[in-house]
Amino acid sequence: MRAIVVVALFLISACATNPVTGKRELMLVSEAQEIQMGREADADVQKSMGVYANARWQQYVTDVGMRLARQSHRPNLPWKFTVVDEPAVNAFALPGGFIYITRGILPFLRDEAELASVLGHEVGHVDARHSASQVSKQQAAGIGLALGSVLAPKYQDAFNLAGSGLGLMFLKFGREDELEADTLGTGYAARAGWDPAGMPGLLDTLARLEGASGSSRGVPHWALTHPPAPERVQKVQEAVAASQSPTAIARNRPEFESHIAGVVFGDAREKGVVRGREFIHPVLRFALTFPDGWDIANSNDAVTAQPAGADGAAIILQPVGAAASNLQVTAETSMSKSGFSPVSGGAERIHGLEAFVGLYEGVIQNTRAGAQAGFVRMSDRSMIYRVLGVASSAQFDLVRAPATAAIGSFRELSTAEADAIQNRQIVFQSVRSGDTWASIAAAVGNTTKPSTLAIMNGETLDSTPRPGSRVRVVR
Ligand SMILES: [Zn+2]
Repeated sequence: MRAIVVVALFLISACATNPVTGKRELMLVSEAQEIQMGREADADVQKSMGVYANARWQQYVTDVGMRLARQSHRPNLPWKFTVVDEPAVNAFALPGGFIYITRGILPFLRDEAELASVLGHEVGHVDARHSASQVSKQQAAGIGLALGSVLAPKYQDAFNLAGSGLGLMFLKFGREDELEADTLGTGYAARAGWDPAGMPGLLDTLARLEGASGSSRGVPHWALTHPPAPERVQKVQEAVAASQSPTAIARNRPEFESHIAGVVFGDAREKGVVRGREFIHPVLRFALTFPDGWDIANSNDAVTAQPAGADGAAIILQPVGAAASNLQVTAETSMSKSGFSPVSGGAERIHGLEAFVGLYEGVIQNTRAGAQAGFVRMSDRSMIYRVLGVASSAQFDLVRAPATAAIGSFRELSTAEADAIQNRQIVFQSVRSGDTWASIAAAVGNTTKPSTLAIMNGETLDSTPRPGSRVRVVR
């Protein structure tokens, strides 16, 4: 939400020269404001997604990214390249030069040229000021920044959840903007010495993933924030043909693959994992079951679940501190900060744990709302968790009973249960004669679908893996 305020404060110059096209365009955001906006949203991205704890990958992506940035139209921006700790396949840019790539996309990149092309595409968005100009247009139209958020924005302020960075990141660009970013990225990669064919290769892989990728309220996949890849491949081929760069041949596959081994695949145990309806945190040692059919999104500061098609109803799981001696006081203080007062409630035991469960009423952004909240203390007194069902009064029936069930499902994990949840990672394995993608997937315990495995190795499901070759698998 802060980004909106920044924009609203500075409606000064209406026109500026685009750094890429050299044309004058509507631009309500100066470069300094653009950088400021990006910096604030960067803090939100780091808070909600977290940085992938792998120094070697962060350095590698920074090195590749900075080589691209130096070839860009705006080499002097404070460029920053980050691998975020997200299992979804995506990459995105914030205004001002803040570029992100998810750890989830890494196993699907074939080589360094493809890494350069995905980063180059995002650099292209920043260079051409796509976000800044979109913010300007929305501002000029008086509609503010459209927040396509993980959770209804009204709850973000009330319950201290990260917000504006995600809004900026989910901005959908037009088809023309995407094509321009593709072309710009291809040009930067070629000028920096990479094979520009990395871009069509990457788009091809993403196109195959599109069929397989699911949507959720969490971080969207590239497919949801980008136009269909096949449309873009032809345009990019033209850009590749036009990039007269005889030295631009590097793909650096061995170097890239030396980084790929060990990359975490899927949910990370350090952030908690979603298994069906259950959210399990093996490090913090608890589990909670969400209602059947609800979308579960796990971010660094909260886990939220929402019923399909009901934006105003949610169950939110959050830590609320450890120090309090009296759970009822903790409950009332924490709910009152969010604008809620108690209607009824009492002490309970939930799977042997000390708890306080209450019904609350409040007003969020001029709408009357109800909340059913449980506060549960871990047996070693390390943390109190709040499990909160919230909705406008009109929709409260949707959430009250499911929230009561979710609160009642909170339980501690045994050491054995916690230890059983280990991170999956990418390893290389030799193909034996007679292997199929299905047999390779089965041999490692079906940790991924055979089709995903084939895509990860640049192949299709009906292809035959070559005996003796090294392939990526998830273990
Ligand atoms: Zn894009």
